[in-house]
Amino acid sequence: MIRLKGIAAAGGISIGPAYKLGREEFAVLAERIGWDDIPGQIQLFEEALIKTRREIIELQKRIAGEMGQEEAQIFDAHLLVLEDRMLIEEVISRLKKEQLNVAYIFSEVLKKYISVFSKIEDEYLKERTSDINDVGRRILRNLLGKEKKGLGDLKDKVVIVAHDLSPSDTAAMHKKNVAGFVTDIGGKTSHTAIMAKSLEIPAVVGVEGATLKIKPGDILIVDGSLGLVIVDPDEATLKEYQEELVKLKGIADRFLSVKDLPAVTSDGHTIAISANIEFPDEVPSAKLHGCLGIGLYRTEFFYMNRKDSPTEEEHYQAYKYVAEEMSPQPVVIRTLDLGGDKFLSQFNIPNEMQPFLGWRAIRFCLARPDIFKLQLRAILRASVHGNLRLMYPMISGIEELRQANSFLQEAKDELRQKGMEFNDKLEVGVMIEVPSAAMTADILAKEVNFFSIGTNDLIQYSLAVDRGNEKVAYLYEPAHPAVLRLIRNVIDAAHFANIKVAMCGEMAGEPSLALILLGLGLDEFSMPPQMIPELKFIIRAIGFKATQEIAKQAMGFVTGTEVEKFAQERLAEILK
Ligand code: PEP
Ligand code: MG
Repeated sequence: MIRLKGIAAAGGISIGPAYKLGREEFAVLAERIGWDDIPGQIQLFEEALIKTRREIIELQKRIAGEMGQEEAQIFDAHLLVLEDRMLIEEVISRLKKEQLNVAYIFSEVLKKYISVFSKIEDEYLKERTSDINDVGRRILRNLLGKEKKGLGDLKDKVVIVAHDLSPSDTAAMHKKNVAGFVTDIGGKTSHTAIMAKSLEIPAVVGVEGATLKIKPGDILIVDGSLGLVIVDPDEATLKEYQEELVKLKGIADRFLSVKDLPAVTSDGHTIAISANIEFPDEVPSAKLHGCLGIGLYRTEFFYMNRKDSPTEEEHYQAYKYVAEEMSPQPVVIRTLDLGGDKFLSQFNIPNEMQPFLGWRAIRFCLARPDIFKLQLRAILRASVHGNLRLMYPMISGIEELRQANSFLQEAKDELRQKGMEFNDKLEVGVMIEVPSAAMTADILAKEVNFFSIGTNDLIQYSLAVDRGNEKVAYLYEPAHPAVLRLIRNVIDAAHFANIKVAMCGEMAGEPSLALILLGLGLDEFSMPPQMIPELKFIIRAIGFKATQEIAKQAMGFVTGTEVEKFAQERLAEILK
C-alpha cells in the first residue's frame, strides 16, 4: 500500500481499478487485445500510415501551389518519418509482445522517440523532433478515427490515471464508467477540476509521479476531499474508507434536507444561490440540488469534442431549452470564453507563451465578430423564452465592455432587420476576474446591470499564480488579504451604483469562506450544483449580523493562512 499526496480537485471518495491513459494530446486508452486481434490491429496501423501519407502529399501539393516548391519540401521530412522502418517495426513487435491496442502502443513508441530526439545534441536531428511529433499526431488521429475509442466508451467503472487531462477529455467522461481520476499535474481551479466537480467525479490532481507509481489495474482509493490517493490499500484501510463513504452519505443527506428551503439567514437576510453549468443537460441536476437560477453557463463547452462549430440555430435551441427549463428564474449566459486551458480545435488558435494572458475570452470574440455575433444573436433570440441575462468574460476595462456592447447592438439591428423577436431589455453584466476590472469596478458599474466575480481567474491574476500549475498551487490562496480586498472593493462599488454582485468562481462554494463573503455583502453565490445544499445549510444556520462581524475580523488578518484558520473555526462552531 502506498499513499500519494496531491491537490484536492473534486470532493468525495471513490474506489476502483486504475485505468491509464496515454500522454498525448489525444486521450488514448490502453486496452487489452487477444492474440487473434493482432493481424487486424496491424492492418489498422498500415491503413493509418497510408491515409497519413495521402494527406501529407495533398498538403504538400497545396503548399507548393500557394507558397512555392521550397516550402513544400519541408514535408519531405514528414514523409520520411512515415517510412521509418525502426519505428514501424517497434510498434509491431511491441503490439505482439504487450497485446495492447495499436493506438496506445503507437502513442507510447512516439513518446519514446520524441524524448530521445529532443535530447540529441545534433541540431539537425533535434529538429526532427517536431517532424516526428507532427506526423505522429496525424497517424494517431487517423488510428483513433478508425478505432473510435474515447472516454465515453469505457465499459467498467475505473479510476483514470493520466499525466494530464484537458477539459474536453473530462467533458467526455461519464459518471457511470469513471469512478474518479488522478493526474500528475494540474491545479484546483483548472477547468479539468471544475468539470470533475460538475460531473461529481472525485479527483486528485498534481500527484507527482502518479503515472509512474500506479500500474494498470491497481486498486485505488481516491479521496478527492483530502487530495489523497491510496494505491493497493490493505483490508483495514479499505474498510475504513467504505465506512467513511457511508458517513459522507449521512452528512450529504443532512445538507440535502434543506435544499428546497430558501437561502435566508437566521435574521432574515435573503441570498440568491445559483448553479454553474457547462451543458444544458446539467439543468435537472441543478434544480434537484435546489438552485435558484443559473449564475454561470459556460458556453464554450458547447464547442468541445466536435469538429465543426455550433450553428446559430444550435446555440439558440440550447439557450432556449435552459431558459424555458429555469423560467422564471434567471439564467446568466456567459459568452464564449476559450483560451487559457480551454482550446477549441475548430479555430486554429496559435500556441502562445502565456495562454492565460493571451488571446482569450472577450479578446478573441472582439477580434472574431463572425463567431461573437452569431452567439449574441442566438442569446438574444432565446431571451424571449425566459429570464436570460448576458455576461462577458475577462473584461479588463471599460473600452472592452463598450466594444462588446457595440457588437451586441449590431446583433440586435441584424435581428430587427430580419423581423426576429428578442428582449431589448436583456440585462448585460461583466465578469470581474481581471485585477484591473476589480480596481475600476466603480467605472464599470455605471454601464452594466450586474457583476459576477470570477475568483478562479481573479486569484491567479492578482497573485500571479497559474491556476493549473501544481508547483505553485500552495500560493493559490482565495483567502489572501489581496484577494479579499479586491472582492470588497468590487462589492462596495457595485452597491454604491445600486447593482447586484454575484460570485461564480469556485470560492463561492467554499463553505468557510462563504461566511466572509456573506458578511462583505455578496448578493449571489453561484457554484457547481452539488455544493448548493451545504451552502444553504450554512446560510440558514447563521445570522447576517454575525457574518458581518466575521468579515470585519477576517479583513484584519495579514495572511491568508490566518484568515483560513479563523474561517474554519467559525464554520466548525456553526456546524456543531
Ligand atoms: C472564474 O474565472 O472564476 C470563472 C468562473 O470562470 P472560468 O472558471 O470559466 O474561467
Ligand atoms: Mg474565468
